[in-house]
Amino acid sequence: MKILRLDHQTNLDLLVDYLWDGESPVLHSQMALLIRRGQIEKIVHQSEYQPSGAQQFRLPNLTLLPGLIDAHVHLALDGQDFRTSLNRWPDARAMASVIKKELGLFLEYGITAIRDGSDGAGWNLEAKKWVEQAHYPGPRIVATGKAFRKKGYYGSFLGPGLTGQEDWKRLLNDMVEQGCEQVKIIVSGLITFRKWGEVGPLQFSTDELRYLVKEAHSLGLKVMAHANSDAAIVQALEAGVDSIEHGYFASKETLKRMADNGTFWVPTIAAVVNRLNTSKAEEYSPQEQDIIKRTYEDQLQKIAQAHELGVRLVVGTDAGAPGVYHGQSFLDELAFFRSAGLPTLAILKAATSTGAQVLGLEAELGTITRGKLPYFIAVPGNPLADLDILQKLEMVIYL
Ligand SMILES: [Zn+2]
Repeated sequence: MKILRLDHQTNLDLLVDYLWDGESPVLHSQMALLIRRGQIEKIVHQSEYQPSGAQQFRLPNLTLLPGLIDAHVHLALDGQDFRTSLNRWPDARAMASVIKKELGLFLEYGITAIRDGSDGAGWNLEAKKWVEQAHYPGPRIVATGKAFRKKGYYGSFLGPGLTGQEDWKRLLNDMVEQGCEQVKIIVSGLITFRKWGEVGPLQFSTDELRYLVKEAHSLGLKVMAHANSDAAIVQALEAGVDSIEHGYFASKETLKRMADNGTFWVPTIAAVVNRLNTSKAEEYSPQEQDIIKRTYEDQLQKIAQAHELGVRLVVGTDAGAPGVYHGQSFLDELAFFRSAGLPTLAILKAATSTGAQVLGLEAELGTITRGKLPYFIAVPGNPLADLDILQKLEMVIYL
């Protein structure tokens, strides 16, 4: 497998046997992509292609498609051990080494853009700078910095405990200054696994949430909301958030509302079920393990329902959570979407073009169309007919 980094000076003619553009239900064959100054200037059929002196690059017998997008990760957590990850945070050298490795893993799995769902030390902002300044190879990063959560409630490892409007404004300004492109808000607690459907409490009043979302939007930042339980999702929708993260236990009525509002849903299935694949799984009682499995099965049904209703589904893994490994878990999540019964085209869109929309990068990547940037992968077959072909990457191209 080859990983090729282009730059803003690159002029290249890419001659591909097959192309999936990120949206179409069919492949296009024998296409030529003219990349000029690191941007797709033109896409023509090879019968109309005229060499212009730019370097030519042929991808015989391969299908070119948009690079994959993981819309929910935590670079500051390694997915192996939560405590070890947190203890590593004060050690800048160790963090650089771990994050460098994770960034490389994303590229190896064909993931060329990620959105980080925050960490309490703001390491995701550092990682974004490292990639932008080409210190380390890595995917394009949309950072949220530190999350907004209420003091005394869930999520101390995601952001500082906040007490009121002055606190919120201070953090928001601080995050904007440091390069955040989105805001992460913790609306509810975690699923407890003690009792079916039990979730930690709501953190904010609906008016408080509404204020936070309005402030973020006024600065041009999208809002991603950690919301489990139907009540939490409804509250987040009332407040006008852009995406629901996790979103377990959504009612059909709530899913319908998400579809009507155009709210994105990142159901992070791996975040719950992958914990059963770790060495710590036995720490869960048989009853808790049953609840985890039932929660997973319920989420698959909700995803199928959401797809039927027209909810804008997005693939996001929560990589960094227990058993959710950076890069690799993307394949798990794709398999879960397939287990939910979604058609391959819908899964591929959730992994590319719709992912780009939730990241706010739809003008730059997520589809292979004129004016977009060269974030591509190439596979030896037709991904629309065989999703598993994504496990046989031949090439990753990124900027
Ligand atoms: Zn998360």
